[in-house]
Amino acid sequence: MSKDYYATLGISKNASESDIKKAYRDMSKKWHPDKHKGEKQAEDKFKEINEAYEVLGNAKRKQQYDQFGSTGNTAGGGFGGGNTGGFDFSGFQQGDMGDLGDMFSSFFGGQGGGGRQRRSNRGRDIQVRITIDFIDVVKGAKKVIAIEKYVMCKGCAGSGAEDNGKLVTCKNCQGTGQVTHTAQSFFGTIQQAVMCNNCQGSGQVPEKPCSDCKGEGRKREKVEITIDVPAGIHDGQTLRLQGQGDAGSHGDESGELYVQIQVKKDSKFVRDNDDIRTTIEVSVLDAILGTDTKVQTVHGDVTLKIPAGTQPNQILRLKGKGLPVLSSSRTGDHYVTVKIEIPRKLSKAEKKLYEELKGEQ
Ligand SMILES: [Zn+2]
Ligand SMILES: [Zn+2]
Repeated sequence: MSKDYYATLGISKNASESDIKKAYRDMSKKWHPDKHKGEKQAEDKFKEINEAYEVLGNAKRKQQYDQFGSTGNTAGGGFGGGNTGGFDFSGFQQGDMGDLGDMFSSFFGGQGGGGRQRRSNRGRDIQVRITIDFIDVVKGAKKVIAIEKYVMCKGCAGSGAEDNGKLVTCKNCQGTGQVTHTAQSFFGTIQQAVMCNNCQGSGQVPEKPCSDCKGEGRKREKVEITIDVPAGIHDGQTLRLQGQGDAGSHGDESGELYVQIQVKKDSKFVRDNDDIRTTIEVSVLDAILGTDTKVQTVHGDVTLKIPAGTQPNQILRLKGKGLPVLSSSRTGDHYVTVKIEIPRKLSKAEKKLYEELKGEQ
């Protein structure tokens, strides 16, 4: 399946970085599912736009795409890095990674080295992004998402074969799982042993393919997944749900589900790592004489003692009233900055009293 990401975004191959960004913004606005409720075609289009931008919006991936095209047909080996870290989710909305998953497994998968290419039947990883309320950080939250993904076919328990999974030798590769293939690559013309498409490299095919899944052992379905968001999570962090990505074909291992968490900003509380910062105003007399005042914290209202002689912008600490520290029993603190209100207008009586005070000095 070859995809032209440039055509998807309606731009030429020479488009500049800002052209790409602009095209993506315009297109994703135009095809946003909110504007096309229930239109499957628009939803697919929107996914394609995002998929295209994930590649073209990232200099490194764009370069790889420009060089190798979208099919991920690279010569085996040559990319020994084995590191897919630093994956960035910029511009990512929801859905699977399309051909990108394949591309990366060819580039970085553990099968570098040697001229042999072997595509795994493992399911693809899926990335989604969810938004939680600020207050969910305090206690953690359970969020249910609905995604469309491959799940194992129940009709054949993933084998792809009907009649108790009876398998026979694949005729295409005589059971070796590989066929020889001449490929053009940036190393020149090379002979490659590539995976047999008929049996996906297993060397065996179902005697009678499962009618439910047409022999693939998996089906696309809309499923609901409950995500346990831990207390103390930070904006931008990603959770990994093992085995919750696409089911592999023919009963092979599932991919992972990566859930990036976005935390909404709060109008009252400012987060500073695991601490909270807020500001209160106290009257000049309360600052001089001291008082008790009520302060809103993420754990509810508490009483804060303003000591006599509190100075402007003095910071008072409410110990343990901040946010829980992720994967720990510790809790941050809540820091309150005290602003002092100087009266702009005084009554006659007040003015007299202040003047008396002044006379004392
Ligand atoms: Zn089946
Ligand atoms: Zn075969």
